[in-house]
Amino acid sequence: MQELGEFERVIGSWEGEQVLVRFDAPTESWIFICIHSRRLGPAAGGTRMKVYGSTADALRDGTRLAAGMTVKMAVAGFSFGGGKAVLAVPALLEGEEREGLFGRYAEAVASLGGSFWTGCDMNTTPADLDLMAERCPYVFGRSVASGGSGEPGPFTARGVFHGIRASLAHALGSPALEGRTVLVQGVGSVGARLAELLAEAGARILITDLSAERAAELAERLGAGVVQPEQALETECDVHAPCATGGTLSVDTIPRLRCRVVAGSANNQLATPADADRLSERGILYAPDFVLNAGGIFFNVGIEALGWDEARVERALEGIGDTLAEIFLRSEDEGISTGRAAQALAESRLEGRNG
Ligand code: NAD
Repeated sequence: MQELGEFERVIGSWEGEQVLVRFDAPTESWIFICIHSRRLGPAAGGTRMKVYGSTADALRDGTRLAAGMTVKMAVAGFSFGGGKAVLAVPALLEGEEREGLFGRYAEAVASLGGSFWTGCDMNTTPADLDLMAERCPYVFGRSVASGGSGEPGPFTARGVFHGIRASLAHALGSPALEGRTVLVQGVGSVGARLAELLAEAGARILITDLSAERAAELAERLGAGVVQPEQALETECDVHAPCATGGTLSVDTIPRLRCRVVAGSANNQLATPADADRLSERGILYAPDFVLNAGGIFFNVGIEALGWDEARVERALEGIGDTLAEIFLRSEDEGISTGRAAQALAESRLEGRNG
């Protein structure tokens, strides 16, 4: 009953359009497909598989992430709306159980008739999408072997790289990475590639990851330093790049930061919208996550839905830097935080204005 009350609160306070809910009895998993907005086109967003503390937490995560996709798609200039799906599992599934769940989940997505398109997110892979595609056409990011565009992570990393250069140009007067220190928090699919790109460009890299082995291996390869995860926030650097989980920037953590710029790939980095104001008050330039981390979408959606070639994708990734520069100027002109300026840009696009 308590959980039901939480469900009511989450849905009741959400301004999204629709949530499809299924309980998958064979795997004891909950499926939530959250459609936040179809104002600009069909809703699109990744599918996250995760073990949550409670079923309501899973629903909350899905609804929040779906709202983030609406603004991300709007700023990216795509004719897609925002959505996200969550598979709340009792344990990360493998083998036949996983295949069974993805098959049934694919049927749920297909039942929406193209209102919702999906791709990879945390703990889901192009192989899962290949399986889904047998029952449902509404997927992006199948494996290359199956005719899809494959892993988005390296392209997300390239977009973040361009965004970091634009952020440095605004905060410190030059986009150059030589002599700058960047702390990359989380060196998975996006963070590891980002660290490589930054190292190639001459930055000094600090790495932190919950997997000490992963951090040590990459640090050795790049000649980077390793920071313990619990010291990531207060470690002095020019750029703090959150590339692990969301919600790391809050009223409690922002006072501990010792950096000039926050720019990373993690979704929903701010615990609340007011945290963008807190960063601004501390003189830290915040590159809004949903602008910075759109590179994977440019790649998967651009190649698979819009017929882009690699050169077109590359131009879009570089454009992330230009969009950020525009947002930074708007924030200065209007005396608002960069987070609010990015939100205003998204809202103007949603309302059919140019910005
Ligand atoms: P990933 O799972 O491949 O890597 C995440 C890494 O972060 C792992 O190595 C993990 O051990 C580490 N980690 C987790 N919590 C940590 C913590 N508290 N401190 C330090 N390290 C921690 O994920 P990814 O695909 O690289 O995505 C990273 C972030 O970027 C996620 O928030 C994701 O939602 C977001 N994002 C990813 C893409 C993409 O194309 N993959 C696109 C947009 C946004």
